[in-house]
Amino acid sequence: MPDRTRFMLDERDMPTAWYNVQADLAEQIPPPLDAEGNPMGPEQLAVLFPMECIKQEVSQERYIDVPGAVIDVYKTYRPSPLIRAKALERVLGLPEGVKIFYKYEGVSPAGSHKPNTAIPQAYYNKLEGVKKISTETGAGQWGSALSIAGALFGIEVEVFMVKVSYEQKPYRRILMETYGATVHASPSNLTEAGRHVLAMDPDSTGSLGIAISEAVEVAVKDPDTHYSLGSVLNHVCLHQTVIGLEAIQQMEMAEAEPDVVIGCVGGGSNFAGIAFPYYKRRLDGKSKARLVAVEPKACPTLTAGEYRYDFGDEAKMTPQMMMYTLGHDFVPAGIHAGGLRYHGDSPLVSALVKSGDIEAVAVHQTACFEAAVTFARAEGILPAPESSHAIRVAIDEALAAKEAGEDKTVLFNLSGHGHFDLSAYEAYLAGRLKDYDFAAGTVLHD
Ligand SMILES: *Cc1c(COP(=O)(O)O)cnc(C)c1O
Repeated sequence: MPDRTRFMLDERDMPTAWYNVQADLAEQIPPPLDAEGNPMGPEQLAVLFPMECIKQEVSQERYIDVPGAVIDVYKTYRPSPLIRAKALERVLGLPEGVKIFYKYEGVSPAGSHKPNTAIPQAYYNKLEGVKKISTETGAGQWGSALSIAGALFGIEVEVFMVKVSYEQKPYRRILMETYGATVHASPSNLTEAGRHVLAMDPDSTGSLGIAISEAVEVAVKDPDTHYSLGSVLNHVCLHQTVIGLEAIQQMEMAEAEPDVVIGCVGGGSNFAGIAFPYYKRRLDGKSKARLVAVEPKACPTLTAGEYRYDFGDEAKMTPQMMMYTLGHDFVPAGIHAGGLRYHGDSPLVSALVKSGDIEAVAVHQTACFEAAVTFARAEGILPAPESSHAIRVAIDEALAAKEAGEDKTVLFNLSGHGHFDLSAYEAYLAGRLKDYDFAAGTVLHD
């Protein structure tokens, strides 16, 4: 194995097609349903999304070309590095046979993996002549990513930001506004959905589900506006596969094959991004990697949710999707990993958890911050609180191998940096962070 730390691809070796896992599922996933329970056709989705994304949503093609204009923008920050966590391995006292690698998506201008889909979504909307895109954001990363993409392609962006994050993370709002977006705290008084929630609970801290309702309502009511989602949907998972497709090439440069591939899961997109190409590699007989999805104990969708049809949002404006869900009216506790506070999950990730192809685990936030601080002090990168969930399990997997005297190669996706999450680190360092169990989350109403 080469004695190197960073494995960099040349931009000429960047993937030119995304990998569509739908081509390789044992069974097709159940279709989205409308409010009456009827399967939804492309026309019904066209009020919300560009036709190219709708086609990708149901496509059975294994590889889908990345448009040239998207590749050009990808090249401003991709390929992203794959790094061997040598310093972390030393700190953990790992034996030679136990190795940790991470793919680092914090190098994008938004500081996370989210531009990987924001860029193609903005591009496809631009092609259709859409003037404005409305969206929700939790921790602010998706809103930042779409704001940048909107600025690059000349499209207005309106963002409903979950109130707890709006208050905890003013810098994310300012970043979005600097890129030219308009940002509202959600629930807001600007939509029927927001007003409805405020009438029930004037102190609501909001949730992704509520913010989605608001953004969808804005798009449905304005023919020049489309809606955009930063996770969950099939086309979003598709766009994120650049992560895993690059990682496979880079692990080959490192002459290593992961035994376990780990990612944190909010709606499932960065996990899908690193894991789906490895799922394919497993089908091809070239990998035996376990695929491990990590979620917060405060919002344990995959480990404690039900696999059934549910709405993507609180006000039932979105299609119903077959997925693991805690219920569309579930409002999780205000943990700092805002991007992981979602009641549902990607239907593709859900189907693969259901079939046993993907494992899921849930962890508490204080254990994650402990892992994040260990990682930061060793590797120098300050992780996003969301990403710290993957780090926690990567460290646990490595330590378990050390304990058992086994060899193991661990690969995880470091989905973003935590430069805008310092108030969370402050709370952790001051010993003020609490852990929340699922039952402690409040259900807004039945
Ligand atoms: C949004 C976000 C997540 C969670 O979203 P997924 O769609 O599950 O990937 C995780 N990490 C970071 C840094 C994020 O910005």
